[in-house]
Amino acid sequence: MSITPLMPVYPRCDVRPVRGEHCHLISEDGRRFLDFASGIAVNALGHSHEGLIGAIQRQAATLMHVSNLYGSPQGEHLAKRLVDLTFADTVFFTNSGAEAVECAIKTARAYHQSAGSDRYEIITFNNAFHGRTLATISASSQEKMHKGFLPLLPGFRYVEFNDLEAAKAAIGPQTAGFLVEPIQGEGGIRIADETFLQGLRALCDEHDLMLILDEVQSGVGRSGTFYAYEQYGITPDILATAKGIGGGFPLGACLATEKAARGMVAGAHGSTYGGNPLAMAAAEAVLDVIADEAFLAAVRAKGERLRSRLEQFLGNYPELFELVRGRGLFIGLKMKVEPRSFVAHMRDNHGLLTVSAGENVVRIVPPLVIDDSHIDEFMDKLSAAAASYQPEGAA
Ligand code: PLP
Repeated sequence: MSITPLMPVYPRCDVRPVRGEHCHLISEDGRRFLDFASGIAVNALGHSHEGLIGAIQRQAATLMHVSNLYGSPQGEHLAKRLVDLTFADTVFFTNSGAEAVECAIKTARAYHQSAGSDRYEIITFNNAFHGRTLATISASSQEKMHKGFLPLLPGFRYVEFNDLEAAKAAIGPQTAGFLVEPIQGEGGIRIADETFLQGLRALCDEHDLMLILDEVQSGVGRSGTFYAYEQYGITPDILATAKGIGGGFPLGACLATEKAARGMVAGAHGSTYGGNPLAMAAAEAVLDVIADEAFLAAVRAKGERLRSRLEQFLGNYPELFELVRGRGLFIGLKMKVEPRSFVAHMRDNHGLLTVSAGENVVRIVPPLVIDDSHIDEFMDKLSAAAASYQPEGAA
């Protein structure tokens, strides 16, 4: 038998982390890495955060799991907190981002179908990433994720990101809404234009459509505000969140207005684990830190410092780097060469973890709790990596 016990769907590298210390990871063989990947924008409080650990330990010793057939003081408390912090009136908890997006799609369909309409089609945008379930790969235009899993789920139509006219032209009698990332993460830290998101909001109002935002990656402080939509002067009808909200504990949520959730009645949806007390305790500890204007202002300030350091640095290597873009600590360094081997070089030879993304981008998504010493360490490692890098194919 040649297949590995762990199903080989990830091209895993040689780094095998066994311990986390604040913004660093330590591997099985004792190597130490600066973690500016954060489990792909998950470990918002870094590793080994005392508040988060304490909350999980206390809750694990008190009550880990009960069925959603019973009342949930823990879920009610966290949902109320999210409602108070956002546009939403109601929350469904999930265990991952893809499930949060699935719930968002179902909520949008049920909005129409509970009122007697048969609208079901969701318009999505090129290079989007919404997860790996059948519905969420169907919602993405990326063919590499479809391969081997056909047929796709019907009911999705793709148009160009940031093209409002194309979005408008795609609306038809079956359209239920739009699903869009305000900042595309896997797509390469591509930021939605203000006129684009505001235009989608206006189209939704005009045609009675649902505006669904996928803030699985951009949310929970990553972009410098609690959710990125706050920077656009609009609110969605439905929003999917995950990753940072659990700080490393698996948790997602679908947030909706009362109007948007009109079809989500008793029996309409469910999850065995969604909203279990352990996940709720983790998220409460995360929100204790992040849902704070001073903390978010610090994320914006750190993001600006990091971006301006990167901008100054780019000019030293015009053959390697093209530009820097992003919001808060959600930053993309666009390269002129394929970024994967540079990401591997930083990791293997300079102890620096980042993640590649679409459009030749190196994604820089550190824990939100970094301080200036981590920015200095990052710039030192990045500079050393650029100085010693031989792009593949170069002599
Ligand atoms: N949506 C976006 C924007 C994401 O970035 C991701 C994961 O990277 C997902 C959805 C899927 O989340 P999960 O991997 O937790 O299912």
